[in-house]
Amino acid sequence: MNKLQLVWFKKDLRINDHFPLISASKNGPCLCLYIYEDELINADDFANQHFQFLSQSLKELRKGLNNIGGDLIFRRGNAVEVLARLHNDHPFETIWAHEETGNLISYKRDIEVRNWAIKNSIKFIENPQNGVVRKLQSRDGWSKIWNHRMNEKLIPAPTSIQTPPNINTGELRSSKDFDLKHSKINNISDGGEQHAHECLDSFLNSRGQHYQKEMSSPVTAFDSCSRISPYLTFGNISMKSAFQKSKERANQIKSLSNDEKIKNKGWLKSLSSFQSRLRWHCHFIQKLEDEPSIENFNINRSYDGLRENSFNQNFFDAWSEGQTGYPMVDACMRALNQGGWINFRMRAMLVSFTSYHLWLHWKKPASELARLFLDYEPGIHYSQIQMQAGVTGINTVRIYSPIKQVTDQDPEGIFIKSYVPELNGLPDHHLAEPHKMTILEQSMYGCKIGKNYPNPIVDHAEAYKSARDKIHSIKKMPSTRQESKKVFTKHGSRRTNRRPSKP
Ligand SMILES: Cc1cc2nc3c(=O)[nH]c(=O)nc-3n(C[C@H](O)[C@H](O)[C@H](O)COP(=O)(O)OP(=O)(O)OC[C@H]3O[C@@H](n4cnc5c(N)ncnc54)[C@H](O)[C@@H]3O)c2cc1C
Repeated sequence: MNKLQLVWFKKDLRINDHFPLISASKNGPCLCLYIYEDELINADDFANQHFQFLSQSLKELRKGLNNIGGDLIFRRGNAVEVLARLHNDHPFETIWAHEETGNLISYKRDIEVRNWAIKNSIKFIENPQNGVVRKLQSRDGWSKIWNHRMNEKLIPAPTSIQTPPNINTGELRSSKDFDLKHSKINNISDGGEQHAHECLDSFLNSRGQHYQKEMSSPVTAFDSCSRISPYLTFGNISMKSAFQKSKERANQIKSLSNDEKIKNKGWLKSLSSFQSRLRWHCHFIQKLEDEPSIENFNINRSYDGLRENSFNQNFFDAWSEGQTGYPMVDACMRALNQGGWINFRMRAMLVSFTSYHLWLHWKKPASELARLFLDYEPGIHYSQIQMQAGVTGINTVRIYSPIKQVTDQDPEGIFIKSYVPELNGLPDHHLAEPHKMTILEQSMYGCKIGKNYPNPIVDHAEAYKSARDKIHSIKKMPSTRQESKKVFTKHGSRRTNRRPSKP
């Protein structure tokens, strides 16, 4: 008789293109397991919105498994203890799972599970689910591996799954069962495999035509960006599937007649930009995979001590509440607090503002943003935060001007006014720096600075200059350069054809 198999679902909540699921189903009856791990759910980087998205994803996963004769088993607790109890009641031969590059809690958990499996002679087979390479020897040639993986055949969902009888499946949990730290956001996208594909399809077939041009402005980005990030984070769709669908769409556009191509202008550039970003997704996660400590420490240790002793809680509070006196920063923080998403450029500006203008160490803002981003993905998050905070030594230092971002990205205040209604009466030319209005103008436009809307908490020009001088004086030190070379060898992108635009 075929032996019992266990599929451990983590950040791969789907049934299609799921190697562990198809492999287990071919080897015997399956226990499909999801573990609610208190340590992860109570962590600083987890919030109610993540729980809601997770619940929707699990509901749909269970439905998908039911449709092919299987079921999803829910347990709560420490992973090793749950697995040990389950093994005691239903001895399984193999645990099948995807490799996960998560935070330090999941990193340590995976080591414990691996050790427990070895000790109990249980096979634990982990497979990659994207372009991230475990035990990577060198960054040279990484893109080749990524390309190879992305072009592998998609794996269909199993047509049937045998589930052993008399299993207590347990139940979906409610967020009330946990002590969740952050619960401001309610207005999030729907999780699950079907929604993931609908979201991607709407991007590839209609919303994405002008993606390349419209991704940077928060006025257009909400519609023109793909918005598939939470689905990738929770594994509702595989990276390979997203990549292949976008390639198919590009091929379809290429095969159009010349007249039709004119109507579809913009698509090919947009799809190419989108595919590059899918590669970046894995490129950034690879950094955390290779160096898990970057969740807590600077990638480049030469920057240690730079900001640690100058944390200003009032600045942090003003930033996180959207009360800095800089309309673009405030609108972005308020948008995040309401909806859990903002586009790349605005994320970069928010981190640049905390790191340079407010001179805050990146760690606390990183946790705040992790809770606010529905798509929080530790590998991208910590690598990007450190890059935007200027502590990698291998990236161009980019200090975004929160004033210029208004004139560049939202000159008519469409986005700003929808999140900072205090400024609704202001004419366009005052939106970037409302504090420069005269007293008369303030009363004419119904916005008293310091009463209805704050004065800037720091002076842009002064803060900019001070930050630029401090960061550059460290960057050019010989010891920093030496360290930066090592960082580049370990983590640097080997592609050289990227030309940065002006912040
Ligand atoms: C400080 C900071 C923190 C970030 N934290 C996260 C995070 O926790 N999770 C996350 O998924 N993305 C993060 N990003 C990257 C990027 O902002 C988001 O992936 C993107 O805004 C998600 O929206 P989208 O799906 O519409 O992206 P699109 O522009 O449609 O891109 C498609 C996909 O490509 C990937 N991608 C896009 N841009 C990047 C990038 N710059 N780096 C790596 N991958 C990228 C994402 O998976 C994204 O879903 C962060 C960026 C910054 C500057």
